[in-house]
Amino acid sequence: MKSMWLNGGPGDSVSGARTEVRDPANGEILDTVPAARAEDVDVFVAAAAKAFPRWSGSVANERAERLHQIATRMREHQDALIELLTREEGKPRVENEEEIEWSANTFDYYAELGRHEVGQVLPPGASTQFNFTLKEPYGVVACITPWNYPIMLLAWKLAPALAAGNTCVVKPSELTPLSSLYLAEHCLADLPPGVVNVLTGTGPEAGEPLVAHPSVAAIAFTGSLATGQRIASLAAPQMKKLHLELGGKDPMVIAEDAEPEKAARALAYSALLNCGQVCTSTERVYIPRSRASEFTEALVEHVRSLRLGHGLQAGTDIGPMIDERFLAKVEAHVEEATAQGARLLTGGQRPESPTGGAFYVPAVLSGVDHSMRIMREETFGPAIPLMEYDAFDEAIALANDSQFGLGASLLSSDPQRIKRFFQGVQAGTIWINDPLTDNYAGPFGGMRLSGGSRELGQEGLDEFRTTKHVHWDFSTEPKDFWYPYD
Ligand code: NDP
Repeated sequence: MKSMWLNGGPGDSVSGARTEVRDPANGEILDTVPAARAEDVDVFVAAAAKAFPRWSGSVANERAERLHQIATRMREHQDALIELLTREEGKPRVENEEEIEWSANTFDYYAELGRHEVGQVLPPGASTQFNFTLKEPYGVVACITPWNYPIMLLAWKLAPALAAGNTCVVKPSELTPLSSLYLAEHCLADLPPGVVNVLTGTGPEAGEPLVAHPSVAAIAFTGSLATGQRIASLAAPQMKKLHLELGGKDPMVIAEDAEPEKAARALAYSALLNCGQVCTSTERVYIPRSRASEFTEALVEHVRSLRLGHGLQAGTDIGPMIDERFLAKVEAHVEEATAQGARLLTGGQRPESPTGGAFYVPAVLSGVDHSMRIMREETFGPAIPLMEYDAFDEAIALANDSQFGLGASLLSSDPQRIKRFFQGVQAGTIWINDPLTDNYAGPFGGMRLSGGSRELGQEGLDEFRTTKHVHWDFSTEPKDFWYPYD
């Protein structure tokens, strides 16, 4: 029976309603959390609003120390956090070790970046004038996170938001609230009360009133396109600052010069990491027709060797999907593609011995095209559709033929092809030979329907700061261009 996190301590919902959190690998109930509603949102936002003047008024060095302290606490509590993440989200332990390390490092990174500068001095228009900008916090920020990287995607919001001087109300996914609550209790408890509050509940019941609350100045959201569009419409009447990280349909182009075995490993990793439930998962693959059978055979052999299991079980490569709803979508995409003429080369079904969890044997398909949903809509699961191309320019055009623009990968050692790719492909991140690797200093985000915001890097801090320009004239003499006009 977990409580929410309010004003630096436990907080419960007014109604007392609760929801269950389950292990996606076997359906076991892990715990229950409060199911917050609008009346709770008022209390949580009030706590963050009350904490704002003091936190935003603290000096950047003090905030830097607090952020480093959060990183230290995360490392002290990493074993428990990793186990909890593995149980509630399902991906293999090793992937959660990486998630926690990344998240702790993100707090360290923004601790330093946050005290580097708070604006710029600008060239004045006259010698009596002084012009500068001030980068100021927005106020209360709502941080709404999805289930696939519950701690890392929270850290990407919380660390820059706090470094900039904002206070926060966090709303994790109803599927994975336990790790966020653990983080609050064990790693954020040294913050002044109210600076971070964690509210649990569903999107419609808790998320919507949070987004629409008049005291929430900015919304930092990672999740699906449909929810992002809903949030944007709710925030529009008050013209709130929006920071939206939405879905993707990332392409990978394998160039003719790539080596099949190495390409198979890079592709399987980028398509099947976290069971394909990564916003930047490779979801469309373009292979050269001249070498299609070599690449396909190497991929199928490698994918068949991967082991499904509980994320805590040693040797597991791929865990379960988060939930039956998401599995059903992958099944529908694969079944529709095969009905339209695609060939299923391996996988594409549930395992023979059911475990009670949402497991799916990774599918590899050939003979797909852009008329199929599996090449147009986000699948968000373990399916790898392969499409053949003749000329490299055709592959670039196919990579760009999407409403999304989050990431794109290329496997090649040819500088000419690489340059054509990173200049020609419209995506927020371009990976050459190392798909899905992030860099704290490298801005991460999308183009087109993937949302235009950026996390990480200087851009990730600036998303949580508004710019004020100060124009100061030392002279109090009336200007000759003021009324009356001659
Ligand atoms: P959802 O959009 O369903 O949910 C994300 C969060 O929003 C959850 O906390 C959810 O709450 C909440 N929410 C849902 N409806 C509303 C609403 N009407 N108002 C306010 N909040 C709401 O996404 P998923 O959790 O299913 O995550 C998967 C999606 O996230 C994929 O589309 C993926 O591409 C995207 N994603 C994008 C990333 C990026 O950086 N661009 C990174 C990772 C994922 P609850 O679930 O509790 O109802």
